[in-house]
Amino acid sequence: MNLEELYSYAKKFGFVFPSAEIYGGFSGFYDFGPLGVELKRNIESLLWKRFVTQKNFVVGIDGSIITHPEVWNASGHTKNFSDPVLKCEKCGARFKADSFIEDLNNGPVEDITEFVNSHDLKCPNCGGSLKFTGRANLMFETVVGTKDKSYLRPETAQLIFINFKQVLNSFKINVPFGIAQLGKSFRNEISPRDFLFRLREFNQFEIEFFVDPEEANNCPYFDGIKDKSIQILTREAQKEGGKAKTVKLKDLQDRATKWHLYWLWEFYSFFVELGIKPENLRLREHLEDELAHYAKACFDIEYKFPFGWKEIHGCAYRSDFDLKQHQSFSKTKMEVFEQAKNKRYIPHVIEPSQGIERAFLAFMFEAIEDDRLKLSKELSPIKVAILPVFNREPFLEIADKLFKEITNKGYSSMIDVRGPFVKRYDYHNKIGTYLTLTLDYQSLEDGSFVIRLRDKDEFIRTKDINQIFEMLS
Ligand SMILES: [Zn+2]
Repeated sequence: MNLEELYSYAKKFGFVFPSAEIYGGFSGFYDFGPLGVELKRNIESLLWKRFVTQKNFVVGIDGSIITHPEVWNASGHTKNFSDPVLKCEKCGARFKADSFIEDLNNGPVEDITEFVNSHDLKCPNCGGSLKFTGRANLMFETVVGTKDKSYLRPETAQLIFINFKQVLNSFKINVPFGIAQLGKSFRNEISPRDFLFRLREFNQFEIEFFVDPEEANNCPYFDGIKDKSIQILTREAQKEGGKAKTVKLKDLQDRATKWHLYWLWEFYSFFVELGIKPENLRLREHLEDELAHYAKACFDIEYKFPFGWKEIHGCAYRSDFDLKQHQSFSKTKMEVFEQAKNKRYIPHVIEPSQGIERAFLAFMFEAIEDDRLKLSKELSPIKVAILPVFNREPFLEIADKLFKEITNKGYSSMIDVRGPFVKRYDYHNKIGTYLTLTLDYQSLEDGSFVIRLRDKDEFIRTKDINQIFEMLS
């Protein structure tokens, strides 16, 4: 299934709609429908559970979307958060120059201006000439009150940095620790494209993991994962046009610290455990010239989309750059004092950054198979659909009782009496429902029902609802 087909599928079954479609849509914005919102929330709550609830050394915050404009001066966003723009001389269409050229060149180019000058670039819409028109800042501006300019946050990360001291002072947590945030971010993309892949409004889950720079290799979990294998496209391979190779995590220690590798492995495992095949995932090491001057290393986790290997996760070692910037702009000390070491320092930061919509897209592509959407039970929008063969009492009464028992356990469910019964299995295969329960005449006699597993076409008659809970747990 290609991107266009997945888009139609997602729209047809109520996962994702173009925003404001009755007004012709709005480029770079999408709305989630009844099934999409469930899948999206499942991704979000699984991330939160795994990386905040279940990690004793990570806490969460929920920061504001519009904040003090000085935050974005300190972070460098007002100055540097921009993309190079190509503009069509004939129709005025604008394109993100680096991606446009990357697609033409089948890979990154070193000097964009030089490439534009030495090639006769044509507009894909009208054939007009494309010219380089400088850079455009990607932040959405807004006015606060009557005259103060501010921005919608382009990332969740900065809200974590500006709350670093507050968390430290109020929660008394010791370094190393992480602060996580999940929520909306906004980027005024020049040419949003590829459905949910590049959006103007999207959701992010980011962790800033604070560590003593001298302890970045002191990760107590590394021994347990050092022999795990992972596919990586190294810098050298990218320069030489080579392929990704499979290595052990311990072989990457000259490229990244142990804590950095730990976070990469954690997010990689998140995808694998929820159903993505390892052969469809790889790490890509950033090239030296892709790295910001303060960053020590950065890796993407890429997914093999039908439109190529693309980033679905980024994890950077950002040194103490952000905290230092905020210290200098706000005049607030960002140091920690460790009594045990009698040491005062600004922690370094490892930043796993996860786009929710990109994960959504990868999970959808991975799960689509012929006539069914094989989402894992954790991701499945509807865990249990209850299908009474007839839309009348006393079938509905039994259905209602089961519905309450299932949803009281926290599992999503629906009583589906829509359309002819024979088509309902097929429908629930297509939307990824994990289990269906059929209520028939025998159900009236002995209180039994028939469980059907989506991927097995297996039918089990039982009276015991706990069997369902066992299958879902
Ligand atoms: Zn044009």
